[in-house]
Amino acid sequence: MKYSAFALLREAFRGHRGWTPAWRKAEPKPHYDVVIIGGGGHGLATAFYLATEHGITNVAVLEKGYIGSGNAGRNTTIIRSNYLLPGNEPFYEWSMKLWEGLEQNLNYNAMVSQRGVLNLYHSDAQRDAFARRGNAMRLHGVDAELLHRDGVRRMVPFLDYDNARFPIHGGLLQRRGGTARHDAVVWGYARGADTRGVDIIENCEVTGLSIVNGRVTGVDTTRGTIRAKKVAMAVAGNTSRVAALAGLRLPIESHVLQAFVSEGIKPAIDCVVTFGAGHFYISQSDKGGLVFGGDIDGYNSYAWRGNLPIVEDVLEEGMAIWPGLGRIRMLRFWGGLMDMSMDGSPIIDRTPVDGLYLNAGWCYGGFKATPASGWCFAHLVARDEPYPVAAALRLDRFATGALIDERGAGAQPNLH
Ligand SMILES: Cc1cc2nc3c(=O)[nH]c(=O)nc-3n(C[C@H](O)[C@H](O)[C@H](O)COP(=O)(O)OP(=O)(O)OC[C@H]3O[C@@H](n4cnc5c(N)ncnc54)[C@H](O)[C@@H]3O)c2cc1C
Repeated sequence: MKYSAFALLREAFRGHRGWTPAWRKAEPKPHYDVVIIGGGGHGLATAFYLATEHGITNVAVLEKGYIGSGNAGRNTTIIRSNYLLPGNEPFYEWSMKLWEGLEQNLNYNAMVSQRGVLNLYHSDAQRDAFARRGNAMRLHGVDAELLHRDGVRRMVPFLDYDNARFPIHGGLLQRRGGTARHDAVVWGYARGADTRGVDIIENCEVTGLSIVNGRVTGVDTTRGTIRAKKVAMAVAGNTSRVAALAGLRLPIESHVLQAFVSEGIKPAIDCVVTFGAGHFYISQSDKGGLVFGGDIDGYNSYAWRGNLPIVEDVLEEGMAIWPGLGRIRMLRFWGGLMDMSMDGSPIIDRTPVDGLYLNAGWCYGGFKATPASGWCFAHLVARDEPYPVAAALRLDRFATGALIDERGAGAQPNLH
């Protein structure tokens, strides 16, 4: 069913009885060409691009819960391509380009809003680092503007410019960055993949991987065994667990990251703002709630809930740039499970097991990568060779030393 203004009008006259489910409730078949483990944004985008770009439709996406119940439905929805290093920047810019055409491509309103992402800087040294990043972006053809204090004040006048512990000196702005509605992205990709014949199988947990003579032959699930020529893992915070089913140990740690939403207020922030002297980011949803977050909880966990000290820490950092935040009531907060890699950058690669592919290491930043991750992973699975913008996102870089360490923080997952 094509969504359009005409369809809306027609259904209005028919009492909205003609809408059909956005995707089927598929039952598992005994065999697929490709099985994708994980019905988050990345798994579903991979299925969509396998079908649309490579004509591979005998595909199942296996999700242990309901689709989007993981990080895809728990994140703070920021999209951007303001990276420094050549291993990352072309990949994230490709994602940004795909975001720009996504809604037309999916025929789905994902509420992509290019409202701008503004990273504040608070010292001369930080300004120099941000200028360097902005220049690197521009060398890759990506938009970047370095704003001085007055330019920032014009955009977000209510921040604390005069008495702050960390005075605001300016900001690096990417106007094409912004936000997108995370659930809609999941639903849009699911609908697009389903329409092209992909089976989306919810409540189906992968519990084992069959490997014969070094080659994957299928998966064991809570709904039976499924044979597959190729198996693609896109399970984010559960990567180490699923990889362990194939006997693989990966350079990934799982950590909790929390997100927060305030009560709805009148429009206050029309862009995304990040605090440069700590880790805090904030935007405003279309419903009026302030959406914000900060650091990971700082200990390894597979639990989808966080602890209270980080709540205090995030709110303190928010108050440091915007004291008025203290007058607004917090409505709810929750945790998601981050797949933190050792250099803070993702992995889209083959594994040592033939036919088994890995998509992981997204840290805080995998939502913005969803379209490019799906695109590049589909290319890898279909053709057994990396898509050019993802060629640096190799698994063996942790052995060869070709790391993509955006922050220069070393093998400290909690610092990336
Ligand atoms: C609080 C928070 C804020 C964030 N903010 C941002 C942001 O602003 N911008 C940004 O770019 N990124 C952000 N991220 C990161 C981003 O959400 C993730 O990197 C990205 O969603 C990960 O990819 P995914 O969507 O495929 O993961 P998920 O949605 O987690 O998908 C993985 C799926 O695999 C399933 N699964 C796991 N094990 C199995 C199994 N054995 N069998 C079957 N299925 C299995 C899980 O149930 C899950 O649904 C944030 C994350 C969190 C938690």
